[in-house]
Amino acid sequence: MMLTINNINKTYSDGTHALKNVSLNLPAGMIGLLGPNGAGKSTLMRTLACLQTPDSGQMEFAGIDLKHNPDGLRKILGYLPQYFGVYPHISCQALLEHIAILKGMAKQARQTQIPQLLELTNLTTVANKKVATFSGGMRQRFGIAQALLGDPKLLIMDEPTAGLDPVERERLHNVLVSISKNKLVLLSTHIVEDIENLCHHVALIFAGKVTDSANVKSLIAPFDGHIWQTEVLPGPNSGALLLSKSFRFGTPSFRLYSKQKPSDKAVLVEARLQDKYLFDLLEQEQI
Ligand code: ADP
Repeated sequence: MMLTINNINKTYSDGTHALKNVSLNLPAGMIGLLGPNGAGKSTLMRTLACLQTPDSGQMEFAGIDLKHNPDGLRKILGYLPQYFGVYPHISCQALLEHIAILKGMAKQARQTQIPQLLELTNLTTVANKKVATFSGGMRQRFGIAQALLGDPKLLIMDEPTAGLDPVERERLHNVLVSISKNKLVLLSTHIVEDIENLCHHVALIFAGKVTDSANVKSLIAPFDGHIWQTEVLPGPNSGALLLSKSFRFGTPSFRLYSKQKPSDKAVLVEARLQDKYLFDLLEQEQI
């Protein structure tokens, strides 16, 4: 059940070249698509969901050619867009029922699956409330429930944790992990932690180009032994590369990349996906 993308290009009518020769081979399971805002994540996801066509290239999932057989894909696709737009003034249960009918689900399947999905996404107690009255987190969980109708094999989720508070985010993580078996879940985000927590494989995208696509641990491994934390920046000749600056109790803390210990006070810390991402981001900015 691989998703294979070959040399996809997309240029919008205003001339923005949003996807540049994107090629990917993605295995089943939870896959992260990571890149800064404007990198092309949504464009790639909309293209894979057959909501827009690429200018060139091929895409195939589980033997289905997405360009020539989008209807074949739609039967096994679940899509959570970044913005749902307007929420109608009908109940959560009724809206799920409506979407299930649009997806072509039979009555029996609807009657079994809707209560299961309400339970999974923790919406059973609010099933009769209007979706328009839901909080951001509830709407995201509703979005996941509707995407899961029909038990899709390819699930595309565009920034599913955007705007959620920490408790909602954790709840959503639990749902995502529990549904990722026997599926390919492609999750886009600019929150690196989400990918590190959830995904075994990540594709990095900068300015429309995929720069890496690999197992998360193998991408972090080359940074092991080279990430340092310090409260005082070393001198300009240390050769260290500043990756990030954060604060703890009002005191600054710097994260540095350096093959040698950059200063007496610097402490070697465990390398994270964030370090690899910021390192690549700095490299991209120099190009
Ligand atoms: P991301 O999801 O990573 O934030 P997008 O795919 O939304 O990135 O955008 C990639 C690039 O394409 C950006 O430069 C964005 O401004 C541009 N873009 C996105 N949608 C459109 C559109 N409908 N028309 C023109 N440009 C667009």
